Order: sequence, then structure tokens, then C-alpha cells
Amino acid sequence: MTAPGHPACRDVDPEIFFPDHTLRDHNERVTSAKSICLACPISAACLGRAVVGREKDGIWGGYTPLERRALLRDAHRLGHEVGYAVRRLELGHQYRVRPTDLLAVVHGLTSRGWSVEKLSAALDLPLQAVLKVRQRVQAATACLVAVSEAESICDGVPSGGVAEILE
Ligand code: SF4
Repeated sequence: MTAPGHPACRDVDPEIFFPDHTLRDHNERVTSAKSICLACPISAACLGRAVVGREKDGIWGGYTPLERRALLRDAHRLGHEVGYAVRRLELGHQYRVRPTDLLAVVHGLTSRGWSVEKLSAALDLPLQAVLKVRQRVQAATACLVAVSEAESICDGVPSGGVAEILE
């Protein structure tokens, strides 16, 4: 059990978080590193620092470099201007949401109290697909919080938020 506030990797070989992708058991090593992060009380701060610091390698906050990139893209998409789409759907109109706007629309409607079932019907998506999008929205929202908290304590970070980090 990790003490509150202490990283779960405190007594772990750091190499574990930088698995060699040429090894046959690379995936198992990634899974093993992620399982340590899963139990870490500071995983959000760890992720935020890695993102703000533009870490290119290693598993931080339970995310691989590719996953951090995908998470940042999702976080950026959450900021898309989708007011028109949300209003149309709220009025019960049919509206084909662009794939790149889907996260922001689901976020907007969920925050207005829409259930998964209602989203599924309005967006013409299977329930499982909506659930997956909602999970991505939650992870992206948590990433934005982690980034903003990290920005307040890290020096020399980009001022343009996730969009600038993604460049
Ligand atoms: S989240 Fe970060 S600090 Fe925590 S165990 Fe993983 S690598 Fe270590």
C-alpha cells in the first residue's frame, strides 16, 4: 500500500517505466508499469508534469507516449466550439455531428444532464460507443485539470495550453 502523497514507484527500478520496445515481452512490461501507476496517489500530477514537460518517452501517470498524445488530442477537442450542434440536438433536431466534434458535443450534453440512452438515440450511436466517448471525455477533462495544475508549478511551460503542447 502506497503512503498518501508518495509516488508508488518510489522504491521501484525506474527502468520499469521505460520498457524497451524491441523486447518480446514489451506489452507485459507496459502493463506491469501501468499497474503500479494505477495505485499511485499522485498519478494525475505525474501525468500533468509529463505532458507540460513534453516528455517523449516513458510511462507517466499510467500513460504511454502514444496514449498521452491521444489524450492531448481529446483534451484539445473538448474545447471545440459546438454550441450550435448542442442547441440543435437539445431542440430535438436531427444533426450529424462531425467526428472531431463528438467529444465536445457529448461533454456539452452530458453536463446538461443527458443520459447515455438519450445521447445514444440523438447521436444514432450504440450505447457502448457512447460509453466509450464518455470515458474519453472524463479522461480528457482530468488531463486538462492535471495540465493546468502542473502549469502553475512548472517553470518555462508553454502558455498556449494543450494546443501548443500538441504542436
Ligand atoms: S504515476 Fe508517476 S509517480 Fe506514480 S507510479 Fe507512475 S510513474 Fe511513478
